[in-house]
Amino acid sequence: MSNNTDQKLCFQCQQSGHCCCDPKIIVTTTFVDIFHIYLGLEQDFEYLLKKLTFYRVEDNLSSELRKKLVLSSIKTSDGEIIPGLRKINGQNCTFYMKPNCSIYNSRPRACRNYPIAFLEDQTENPFFWAKDSVNTCPGIGKGSSLVIQTIIEERKKTLNEIKAHNELVYELNTEASKGNPLSAREVIWMFIVYAEKYSFANTL
Ligand code: SF4
Repeated sequence: MSNNTDQKLCFQCQQSGHCCCDPKIIVTTTFVDIFHIYLGLEQDFEYLLKKLTFYRVEDNLSSELRKKLVLSSIKTSDGEIIPGLRKINGQNCTFYMKPNCSIYNSRPRACRNYPIAFLEDQTENPFFWAKDSVNTCPGIGKGSSLVIQTIIEERKKTLNEIKAHNELVYELNTEASKGNPLSAREVIWMFIVYAEKYSFANTL
């Protein structure tokens, strides 16, 4: 993250598609994101799986770099993974349909927040323009000022969701360390069952 949003917080999406088609931007997903996408798609589980990818985390990743992962990696029988949205040819998000997102109402929270990114440290400026966005996103500086209170509320929801996700992953990893990890596919199904059970359907 970079470029403090200090004085002027104006943004209005110009539907450029830059954020959805930038090969440098990947969208990783919490169990809540995956649940909302599943509900929004109204397709079967196999279809959902085709839209996801599993970013591999190397076993020997240093603890320093591990701490920087916003979403904890999940130990599965397919390796250590972080689920995210598939990209076509490493570029366009699988859900991008020019000029917009085909799952707009159920898109992941990171997409909703973009180009704003959040920090956990409440003593500093708690939100930033996401990395490189000031150079690539034509919506920054356009439109009227964003409402700070809305950003603060969104930040709270985002951080709560990340926390809930990482707590769930911690439980999964604890079970996996006992010698019987789920497969990546089973983890995604478990995410959906868990989100449904604990009523995460209307949390957007
Ligand atoms: S889910 Fe939608 S908003 Fe998010 S990157 Fe994909 S196309 Fe863009």
